[in-house]
Amino acid sequence: MSYFLKNATLPNGTRADLAIQDGQFVAASTLTKDHQVIELAGKQVLPGLVDLHTHLREPGFEESETVATGSLSAVRGGFTAISAMANTSPVADTAGVVEQVYRLGQATGLCDVFPIGAVTQGLNGQTLSEIGAMADSAARVRVFSDDGKCVFDPLIMRRALEYVKKFDGVIAQHAQEPTLTQDSQMNEGEISAQLGLKGWPAVAEEAIIARDVLLAEHTKSRLHICHLTTAGGVEIIRWAKARGIQVTAEVTPHHLLLTDDYAKNYDPIFKVNPPLRLESDVIALRAGLADGTIDIVATDHAPHSSESKDCEWSVASFGMVGLETALSIVIKTMVETGAMNYQDVAQRLSIAPARIARYENHGQPLEVGSVANLTIVDTAAKWIVDRDLMSTRSKNTPFHGFELPGVVTHTFFNGKLVFGE
Ligand SMILES: [Zn+2]
Repeated sequence: MSYFLKNATLPNGTRADLAIQDGQFVAASTLTKDHQVIELAGKQVLPGLVDLHTHLREPGFEESETVATGSLSAVRGGFTAISAMANTSPVADTAGVVEQVYRLGQATGLCDVFPIGAVTQGLNGQTLSEIGAMADSAARVRVFSDDGKCVFDPLIMRRALEYVKKFDGVIAQHAQEPTLTQDSQMNEGEISAQLGLKGWPAVAEEAIIARDVLLAEHTKSRLHICHLTTAGGVEIIRWAKARGIQVTAEVTPHHLLLTDDYAKNYDPIFKVNPPLRLESDVIALRAGLADGTIDIVATDHAPHSSESKDCEWSVASFGMVGLETALSIVIKTMVETGAMNYQDVAQRLSIAPARIARYENHGQPLEVGSVANLTIVDTAAKWIVDRDLMSTRSKNTPFHGFELPGVVTHTFFNGKLVFGE
């Protein structure tokens, strides 16, 4: 099928028509006659969004999410590439498991599903996994992470950073000092004291970030910091970048909007790792994202069954789903506030994550010759989040009932219309 997209607004604000044929953007004059015309007056086109941090739960926890349901959730949210975190069962620590996930993604065919490989075997933090074999596998893994757990041992972290240099890989660190956060339930502060919940101090995150930027400098390797949540963490990344260290960082949509105030009613829908922090942290994260200190937004989409969320705070699972609300939260927190424009949105949600993970066909200019991965957004429209209407298999969105700006109307993957009509 070929498409002629009329009157699209490009990320830089200019208007253009876009022609798609055989998976690519082509010159309009070369379109065959049977193309579908889609009128896009007033709508924003973005390069297909790229998520560097997605939990798909397959293999092992298919009652919460599968590669197929996660892919559908992704394209509804405007994503054309997602990155499946390694904390499945079995853990994605061998070529066999990453190839399985990669092939499930290809068979679904809605978006690219790029597996992330575990840094250590079984996420045990002690023995490096088959990093080279995963890099050489059909999945061509370039991002490695023990996410959910911190690579705590500095020698293991150093070896991992050294290892991935050989093939231009990157280590994505979940920065959580384990001894400072044992049994922690939420941000450490006034509210955790009021609620009687064990706190999670900012320093537990910042200490690991500080250590690891120094290790990245020492090894001259690439480090990525997952889900930054504290003002102090932003300062450390800013310092490291000024020093020329190869570090990149992400922030989640929920940390751009929500604070630990939401924990006050003990509703575990707001229980997340790392925890919701303070208003002053939210302000610092938004400023860091706007000025490029924080390179990207990543969802940390973490589906959980209702049994593991509809229970007492202390026993509920950590995590929130995010693929279908991410772009709207970014529009609300960053564009509507004037901190970013749509060129910046394209940069933070597509171009930069594709570059960090070396996803070649994503985050490309919307021009003739590029693979047609794109999403179309009605930025003037508003919608009310309804967890029962989402495509993800899990319902644990903290935004149920929120009115949000920005409705994704179409998503094209490799030139195919995979969402919208
Ligand atoms: Zn994490």
